[in-house]
Amino acid sequence: MISTDRVEGHARSSAVTGQVKWAPVRSIWTGSLFLVGTVGAVATVSLENVLIFLATTAITIGLGHSIGMHRLLIHRSFSCPRWLEYVLVWLGVLVGMAGPIGMIRIHDLRDWAQRQTDCHDFFAHRRGFWQDAAWQLHGKLDLRHPPRFRLEARVAKDPVYRWMERTWMLQQIPVAVILWLLAGWDAVIWGVALRVTVSLSGHWLIGHFAHRDGHQTWRVEGAAAQGFDLPWAALITFGESWHGNHHAYPGSARLSQRPGELDPGWWVLQALARIGLVRDIVTAATLPHRPGLLRVDPDDRHHCPCLGLFSQD
Ligand SMILES: [Zn+2]
Ligand SMILES: [Zn+2]
Repeated sequence: MISTDRVEGHARSSAVTGQVKWAPVRSIWTGSLFLVGTVGAVATVSLENVLIFLATTAITIGLGHSIGMHRLLIHRSFSCPRWLEYVLVWLGVLVGMAGPIGMIRIHDLRDWAQRQTDCHDFFAHRRGFWQDAAWQLHGKLDLRHPPRFRLEARVAKDPVYRWMERTWMLQQIPVAVILWLLAGWDAVIWGVALRVTVSLSGHWLIGHFAHRDGHQTWRVEGAAAQGFDLPWAALITFGESWHGNHHAYPGSARLSQRPGELDPGWWVLQALARIGLVRDIVTAATLPHRPGLLRVDPDDRHHCPCLGLFSQD
């Protein structure tokens, strides 16, 4: 059984056997924001509200989820001053999916399961569109024999992360108050309820398609689920939709690999590095060769699996 940095399989653990159950708190959270967000937004459409939605979504998804939560907290693919780390991760908490510790747990458990030779349909998004939506947005998988999850002390004992974990839903309140003071209730509907609804649905949608079909440059031999690239979603996901690349090189801060692959999260990281705020950036070119990784892109003119093609910038 394959283990990952934080998730350790043992003799009885299984990524297959388990039951998907309704997760009441998460479901009510998702459902009520969906109702308020969609009904409220239809009743209050205006250019100003659309701009508030776009700006708050870009900041929380791009700087928060992609850079702070995923590339930094979960994968440690670069380092930065502690204050900046807190700001980026806090912006990621505002996406409304979970607290920092919950996000690491959800991500790493799925990652561990997908690397086994077989895993539950829940982990691989194998079920049909609507059932997968219901499972991922309103349910949770209870594994009968889960693996051991070990969180590093740097996060587990950090008082700021523990506070964010306890209060992740309440973290929307300061944002709502600021938006209300600036532009009234409409702004709260668009900048909180609709933003969280679109972010959660979008995150599920990309996860659903990125594990089923699409362009593939790499194949991880023996893994229960493969990642695929969704080029059409590259800009709106800040580069996260290069998910095939991510399965191949999870530790890379850069999710794009070839020229023409748009990766706004990477552009922001490069800008932060240029002004000295980000350092120790890990990319595919600096990661050790990973056993079981096969290059499968039939259209690829770079037949050599050497990593020279990553070094164009
Ligand atoms: Zn994946
Ligand atoms: Zn990841």
